[in-house]
Amino acid sequence: MEKNEQLIYFEMLDLRGALDTKELQREFTTLRKGYEGEALFYSYFKAHAPQNWVVYYDYSFDFDGKAQIDFLLVSNQLWYLIEVKNYSGHLDYTDNTVTINNKIYQNIFRDLDNRTVRLKRLVATVSRQITVTPIMIFIGADFTYTLNQKPSMTVIPRTAIKHFLTKLPPVTPLLNYQQTQNTLNKYKTPYQIKYHRLEPEAFVKIRKGIHCANCSSYNVERMRSCVRCGACSHLERLEFVISRKAFELIGLFPDHPEILTVANLHQ
Ligand SMILES: [Zn+2]
Repeated sequence: MEKNEQLIYFEMLDLRGALDTKELQREFTTLRKGYEGEALFYSYFKAHAPQNWVVYYDYSFDFDGKAQIDFLLVSNQLWYLIEVKNYSGHLDYTDNTVTINNKIYQNIFRDLDNRTVRLKRLVATVSRQITVTPIMIFIGADFTYTLNQKPSMTVIPRTAIKHFLTKLPPVTPLLNYQQTQNTLNKYKTPYQIKYHRLEPEAFVKIRKGIHCANCSSYNVERMRSCVRCGACSHLERLEFVISRKAFELIGLFPDHPEILTVANLHQ
């Protein structure tokens, strides 16, 4: 499963030593953990879901307001809106308040309710016959929860995911697939990376050199027309290495195109 662009961007910041605050490091950890949880759910889905269910991952849309969905499982008359949370510790839900490890947290159940309302309106433009069912999945291995207030959606712990997927009803191939696809595309919003915009002075501080595209090691040897990784032996053509570095500099300094010079590319 592909990583989202925000995570790829943070990995790049990390490799260049540019995650220079506790908040950025925390954000990176949250993104990475979220991705690991979603990738794990996707592997369960592929292994256990019946054939012909169509899956969309990380779908962002705007229908009377913006919303993002981790997974959309689509069949002819039944759609599942799946939110995957990869938390650790203990969650409690009482009197409209979510706490995790006794700290107040955003109300993830209400957030999912809001997304469901928007998705239902969107789906009604495809067909009035489709039912949308929201599901909250807690995939963290070291995680427990107490729901003193009952959320409006089904909540599935890690141990019941396989059962849920196995029991999905078998479906015939999607009849109105093209229409569904067109509608989802019509309301889809482009992915927006939240940049950590560095000032030009930060250039001296970021880690220089080139790293392996395969394993990220900086232990690389430059040959005439390619670069060989000392850690994993991966070979990459020099022009790809240079264009990767240019892409990184643009991402690190989106407001300062003057940083992108030949001299800086070779540092
Ligand atoms: Zn390597």
